[in-house]
Amino acid sequence: MTATATRVLVLNSGSSSLKYQLLDMHDASRLAVGLVERIGEETSRLVHTPLATGGAKRETEGAMADHDAALKAVAAELAADGLGLDSPQLAAIGHRVVHGGLKFTAPTVIDDAVLTEIERLVPVAPLHNPANITGIRTARALRPDLPQVAVFDTAFHTTMPEYAARYAIDVATADAHRIRRYGFHGTSHAYVSRKTAALLGKGPSEVNVIVLHLGNGASASAVAGGRCVDTSMGLTPLEGLVMGTRSGDIDPAVTFHLKRVAGMSEDEVDELLNKKSGLIGLCGDNDMREIRRRIDEGDAQAKLAFDIYIHRLKKYLGAYTAVLGRVDAVAFTAGVGENAAPVREAAIAGLADMGMAVDADRNAVRSDEPRLISPEGSRVAVAVVPTDEELEIAQQTYALVSA
Ligand code: ADP
Repeated sequence: MTATATRVLVLNSGSSSLKYQLLDMHDASRLAVGLVERIGEETSRLVHTPLATGGAKRETEGAMADHDAALKAVAAELAADGLGLDSPQLAAIGHRVVHGGLKFTAPTVIDDAVLTEIERLVPVAPLHNPANITGIRTARALRPDLPQVAVFDTAFHTTMPEYAARYAIDVATADAHRIRRYGFHGTSHAYVSRKTAALLGKGPSEVNVIVLHLGNGASASAVAGGRCVDTSMGLTPLEGLVMGTRSGDIDPAVTFHLKRVAGMSEDEVDELLNKKSGLIGLCGDNDMREIRRRIDEGDAQAKLAFDIYIHRLKKYLGAYTAVLGRVDAVAFTAGVGENAAPVREAAIAGLADMGMAVDADRNAVRSDEPRLISPEGSRVAVAVVPTDEELEIAQQTYALVSA
């Protein structure tokens, strides 16, 4: 890395998508952002926004057979803006890796041994780690000399005490198959809990925060003095809150019932709980905007879905209040948490005895900035704190390679 190398390329590789952002850590500015969708299909699409040059968004359609082709297309777009991957200003590539198991508790420079370890975790993250690995291999082939860093979704949660991380099942079976609660969205929970402390004018170690990351996937975490002590997702991102398409918590016996009584296969149950449940299963829509619109029109099914979603949120607020003992702040983040004022209002309604309340005027403000929505003088600060997982990945990556 040269003294002038301050840029970090952040890659988030999904099974058929590749999201990227090029940031300059000199001032944390974004130089370019983009997305490749439908990798492996005839109709792959790359959307590239060159923020540094202020140029217009560019869209390219056409078959991109694999992640290698997609990343090469991205590199060509960046090069067209004078931001090519061969630039000496590029310090590192930061990769989002969903599952780091117990071994990866911090961002890690990727070498062959690290890659092998990430591969070893595929059985516990079959939907996510293979795509992340493909992204890493592709980027390493393109720039073998450049430091590549893995930033793990699970890392922030590795501080959970054993009594929060273990399921109450036979220990030998659990250990043989690495079955435990890992938690996800950790990059977001880390970023948002830190930002929330800053909003209160405190350091992370001084505050206890409940973070509600409510996107299409959703999770809650209890963060005591900057360390995660509990989180709602478990072995996989299926556990916990009601999500866009995932059930969250259910009695595990439901799965036996679906197989024995409803005659469903393992894969069908998996698909039901991960893709056809949650809000979409309850009312046919997983977009909170559409659900609110239907409720405003008097749609009872949408209202019930909303009520189930809110009831689950309240249960986690209560549970994490008990886990933390003292709560200084509740932070709402991600697509729903940042934008859906009715969700925030309903989740906090009735919790005055827990010191939590929402001010209607403050809650109605729309902004990209962290902000308080609780009334002046509330015992617990309720806040909206926009997440920025890419910035957090870039910061963690840059901190590691520039140390
Ligand atoms: P992902 O988990 O895919 O990263 P996001 O954090 O982007 O998801 O959240 C996407 C969800 O946010 C959408 O499905 C929708 O329910 C919700 N959302 C986005 N914008 C709004 C809005 N203006 N009002 C209400 N909900 C919104």
